Amino acid sequence: CGVFGVIGVTDAANFVALGLHALQHRGQEAGGIVTHSPETGFNQARRMGLVRDNFTSEKMMAMLPGSIGIGHVRYSTAGNKNQQTAIRDVQPFFGEFSMGGAAVAHNGNITNANSLRRELIERGSIFQSSSDTECIIHLMARSMGRNIPDRMEEALRKVEGAFSIVAMTRTKLIGCRDALGVRPLVLGKIGNGWALASESCALDIIGAEFVREIAPGEMVVITEKGVESHYPFRPNRARFCIFEHVYFSRPDSIVGGRSVYETRENIGRELAKEAPVEADIVCPVPDSGTPAAIGYSLQSGIPYAMGIIRNQYMGRTFIEPTEQIRNMGVRLKLNVNRALIKDKRVILVDDSVVRGTTSRKIKEMILDAGAKEVHFRIASPPTAWPCFYGVDTPQREKLLAATMTEDEMRSHLGVDSLKFISLDGLYRAVGEANGRDPNAPSYCDACFSGEYPVAPSDMIEQGFQA
Ligand code: 5GP
Ligand code: SF4
Ligand code: MG
Repeated sequence: CGVFGVIGVTDAANFVALGLHALQHRGQEAGGIVTHSPETGFNQARRMGLVRDNFTSEKMMAMLPGSIGIGHVRYSTAGNKNQQTAIRDVQPFFGEFSMGGAAVAHNGNITNANSLRRELIERGSIFQSSSDTECIIHLMARSMGRNIPDRMEEALRKVEGAFSIVAMTRTKLIGCRDALGVRPLVLGKIGNGWALASESCALDIIGAEFVREIAPGEMVVITEKGVESHYPFRPNRARFCIFEHVYFSRPDSIVGGRSVYETRENIGRELAKEAPVEADIVCPVPDSGTPAAIGYSLQSGIPYAMGIIRNQYMGRTFIEPTEQIRNMGVRLKLNVNRALIKDKRVILVDDSVVRGTTSRKIKEMILDAGAKEVHFRIASPPTAWPCFYGVDTPQREKLLAATMTEDEMRSHLGVDSLKFISLDGLYRAVGEANGRDPNAPSYCDACFSGEYPVAPSDMIEQGFQA
């Protein structure tokens, strides 16, 4: 998901809508905005679909007055992901407390949400949604804290897992990251006001200046007077999500202190060193494979070619909930550039293989177009474990790499060769010259290594074995 917030500007909702639009790649199912103005109190609009289809009309923006606002774009990972998102699961969530109202928008996934929910319901909480995020509101309601930031701190100390949160009261904008800093969150300055965003590309769009990242385990409380910083959690070594660099973040963002584009190009260079092959052209699977393909081409000297063209008006295929639509999705989104492919030995670079659906379809399309050979190079190690921290991976059994060896995958996909970047190569690409330190890895890489930095307790309760 993507989160955004702004304080100290006229017509905050316009800024929030723009920020969310820049974060749309983080979630396309639904979006919501909450604002506050002294005249109208809290205002909210939560809608299914894209930001540009919901939050651009004058009529809509007139319903969201105020100089403070937050917003969220949703992509469902928790709750019931087999059902379509229900409007009641669309964020921000809102709560009224004795000292006033507060709205909360959350990116990540609470790994003990089921047990928290059970406990809260037993003690009388009435849940309105199926979302893990709602636990935070109920925990805040039960807190004895004297103000909303205190209540939020107390609530978040009971929550396990990954969270980057943007919240607001009538007068305060609040941002918080879990102690490991799994999901990103950045701070920006705009005029006399401030902004918080999942990624720096959302600051760029509103013309805000990038100030810094919110630190892992940090909570910032921003008022018109300035930014106040708290550290409510037990200090821990940071474990930023390495997959944000591979796939999730936009290439023009700076996250985890690094340019996402540069990292992806480095990954391509590492891949070319680790897994060279003779071929005529290097083609990305757009858009997610593009920077890595450029890196592979630069390192190997094999020409880069746009052998696959992407229809810019389609969303990300992975987000479609059913297998059938996912299957069709690849063709709706990608088409082969025949003139470039015919009679060529093609290296195809993609960011990841999850179920293998995309790779299989693409290989068929490339062979239909007359390619002589197809070599897959993947910009992440085999995805062998599900993510429980806010990226939607399927159950372990559905992950190709969980049930097959690399050679079995190669023959299942029907390609001439298949190579994944090594975990060490990936760490080198993010700037760790010696690769991954097995005793103290500096990122979360659980979907590749199976080493979960936070025990996924709800899943373990349901029989998952890490
Ligand atoms: P597969 O077809 O192997 O199941 O999925 C791999 C494709 O899905 C890759 O091309 C990759 O770009 C995309 N992908 C990987 N992870 C995610 C994710 O978490 N969300 C979305 N929307 N797409 C993903
Ligand atoms: Fe990121 Fe993978 Fe860790 Fe999930 S399991 S937070 S996708 S590195
Ligand atoms: Mg892709």
